[in-house]
Amino acid sequence: MPVVESPKPHASSSSPLLGATLAELTAWVQQQGQPAYRAKQLHQWIYEKGVRSLSEISVFSKQWRESLAHVPIGRSTIHHRSVAPDETVKYLLKLADGQIVEAVGIPTEKRLTVCVSSQVGCPMACDFCATGKGGFQRHLAKHEIVDQVLTVQEDFKRRVSHIVFMGMGEPLLNLENVVAAVKCLNEDVGIGQRNITISTVGIRDRIHLLAEHHLQVTLAVSLHGSNQKLREKLIPSARNYRFDELMEECREYVKITGRRLSVEYILLAGVNDLPEHAAELADNLRGFQCHVNLIPYNPIAEADYERPSDYRIKVFVEALKARHIAVSVRYSRGLDADAACGQLRASRV
Ligand code: SAH
Repeated sequence: MPVVESPKPHASSSSPLLGATLAELTAWVQQQGQPAYRAKQLHQWIYEKGVRSLSEISVFSKQWRESLAHVPIGRSTIHHRSVAPDETVKYLLKLADGQIVEAVGIPTEKRLTVCVSSQVGCPMACDFCATGKGGFQRHLAKHEIVDQVLTVQEDFKRRVSHIVFMGMGEPLLNLENVVAAVKCLNEDVGIGQRNITISTVGIRDRIHLLAEHHLQVTLAVSLHGSNQKLREKLIPSARNYRFDELMEECREYVKITGRRLSVEYILLAGVNDLPEHAAELADNLRGFQCHVNLIPYNPIAEADYERPSDYRIKVFVEALKARHIAVSVRYSRGLDADAACGQLRASRV
């Protein structure tokens, strides 16, 4: 809830301050009878110093701090943390109501990417996905999305450069909070919109709604099948949203935003990884400004798919390249154990 839209939002409802813009914080401090420059300090303490309680803000008077003791900042606590040999760190974060979400910090020499969740659980029930098998609990609020990025940034003691909405949940079902979080991460945390990717399984009309926000984020579409029948087998919601309709909405997104589309395609041995699937995929993407990311399946306990051999993956890649499709293979990082989306949570909660 933006601070400017309601008369005394934080003081009365005690909604968290994390996620508020400088303008909103300014309105809020002024409501408390404080000068506007206090908002700048507050903004810095929240977004740069990562303060967890207003009582820690030593530049505020003791009296004011005490009167604000009931106002939450909105930070999570780290419930579990596991470090993989390649230095990827997976976190389970505990929210104010006790719910648990996953976030992942993925470092390279030049980048620190955070894989964020947009929901607790997920209602889409994709057949290969651990989160989908666990059902849906609730949407994440704006501050709960922003918090994941700040937490990883603090833990790595390094600035986050990239964000991918590829953790738990379907971001386009929680579009309002996801867009609000993207704006906050961009304007208040300082991460370029072009370094933010929103990944979706495809929800009718929502790609269009996202395009209308005119953000410069990358849209990634989890296609996973080269035709309607294959998609329906893997993604229950595809029954209500046909392949060609989804592609049309993606085409429109590219047109409105001028951004290239990312296509995510999980490779499941013997299911969607045959050369004819590659040919069909290439046909369906012809003339499209896109890049295909192939994701070899990470086995989960609840499904009995298999990851294709390296040879089969190579053949698939070559088949796409021969048809002039830009393609890369993305092995999930750090993922010798509890690899795929939702698996860590499934094994620890
Ligand atoms: N709901 C969104 C974002 C969450 S999933 C979406 O579907 O795009 C993020 C990515 O992880 C998706 O491309 C998804 O297909 C992939 N994924 C989920 N389970 C996986 C598994 N077991 N192995 C490999 N990738 C998986």
